[in-house]
Amino acid sequence: MKIRNYIGGEFLDPLSHQWLDNYNPATGEVYSQIPDSDGLDVEMAVLAAQKAFPAWAALGEEKRSEFLMRIAKAIDDRLDTLALAESMDNGKPVWLAKVMDIPRARDNFSFFATAILHESSSTHKTGTEAINYTYKSPIGLAGCISPWNLPLYLFTWKIAPALASGNCVIAKPSEITPMTAFMLSEICAEIGLPAGVLNIVHGLGPKVGSAIVSHKDIPAISFTGGTKTGAEIARVAAPMFKKLSLELGGKNPNIIFADCDFDKMLRTTVSSSFTNQGEICLCGSRIFVERSLYDKFKTAFVEKVKAMKVGDPMDDGNKVGAIVSRQHMEKVLSYIKLAQEEGGTVLTGGTQVHPEGRCANGYFIEPTIIEGLSYTCRTNQEEIFGPVVTIMPFDSDEEALEMANSTPYGLSATIWTENLTRAHHFAHQLQSGIIWVNCWLLRDLRTPFGGMKQSGVGREGGFEALDFFTEKKNICIKL
Ligand code: NAD
Repeated sequence: MKIRNYIGGEFLDPLSHQWLDNYNPATGEVYSQIPDSDGLDVEMAVLAAQKAFPAWAALGEEKRSEFLMRIAKAIDDRLDTLALAESMDNGKPVWLAKVMDIPRARDNFSFFATAILHESSSTHKTGTEAINYTYKSPIGLAGCISPWNLPLYLFTWKIAPALASGNCVIAKPSEITPMTAFMLSEICAEIGLPAGVLNIVHGLGPKVGSAIVSHKDIPAISFTGGTKTGAEIARVAAPMFKKLSLELGGKNPNIIFADCDFDKMLRTTVSSSFTNQGEICLCGSRIFVERSLYDKFKTAFVEKVKAMKVGDPMDDGNKVGAIVSRQHMEKVLSYIKLAQEEGGTVLTGGTQVHPEGRCANGYFIEPTIIEGLSYTCRTNQEEIFGPVVTIMPFDSDEEALEMANSTPYGLSATIWTENLTRAHHFAHQLQSGIIWVNCWLLRDLRTPFGGMKQSGVGREGGFEALDFFTEKKNICIKL
């Protein structure tokens, strides 16, 4: 099967006629091909978007909202098919894609379809002399680039606000997980989205991604991916004075105090460590536990994680699916080796799994818990982005805070305590853009989403996302 670019409302082969293999990570087999596009395909997409922009921007919020709601409904109608496709492309369990990825992709469209109807702008009275009002207009063309871990979920998290606010989009999904983006383009064609409003160009980051970032007619880039890629994008885009939203890597702390609700904490910590094979930027990969609770936690956590079944993503009994690619699996395994070299002890997991049957050649790793490491070692400072967590005891609030804030990242953090004063104190001092107290991944799409330090620049979500894709102008009228 061949995935095709979606440009100007048409399904096109790449101009180069070159293709890339697309793997199913659960079986290790090539099951489709994707366009190996380049700057020429991006140029075509820009021309199509420029042609579509005036009419799309002039359509008005209500009509644009209707289109987005139609896309949301079409995603919902295809929930099972999309979930299966997401699982085949990414390796995640089908059941997870059904309850997380695809419903959230639908919600991204319906959320921004309705949010745009509630947008308003401010006025400022300058004494009796003048009145100022803020006039908002779409930026024009927006470039949206997304990663492989939550493919349709994160792709649509950018596309939906960009379209809702009246922009036309040139989007690039990860070349590792392109399938549901392709299916989204089929949906757009089917519901009659005007040609050129959304253009999806498939291919490699350094070819298609960088052509989008460096294109002079794309003034806004919304990117989610690794910190290193984000730095490269900033290097290219900053001298062009582009608007940039960068959602990057993380190394999130999970801080567990002895006074927490133990059962709730334990259940959630298993999820926050290993959901989606630990390949969620918000997973808590460094677990700090107050010393008086450490042994009890360790025993219970190891027991629960040992019981997690790893294997065929199509089997609903499996909690952990395949790692997204061979290359990423090898990276994760190399970090487990590094952890041991750094003096860590693997309490459970640590090795590749070879399931029987159709997944024998897939890329599976046991959920892994490591203890005995210093919080400053590489294993605890660098992003692994897989089913690997470390556990460490702490003796005081100050020590926990220092360890939690010690990495160059600042995406999210979780705090477990029944002491609200302590929770507030900690939350205010943690260097993270998103903090959960006694929960994890509880998302309200209106809240600002993004990281501090090397985890990113800017915030997505709610009106912040609509603002990003909007140009604001102050108009001052002398009274
Ligand atoms: P990546 O940076 O390798 O790739 C992300 C996207 O950027 C892909 O589409 C890729 O093709 C493209 N790309 C690569 N080089 C490019 C270039 N030079 N110019 C433009 N585009 C380029 O990231 P990944 O491996 O796909 O995803 C994993 C990373 O994403 C992890 O670091 C994870 O923490 C991060 N992530 C962050 C968030 C967040 O919200 N902060 C969410 C999910 C994932």
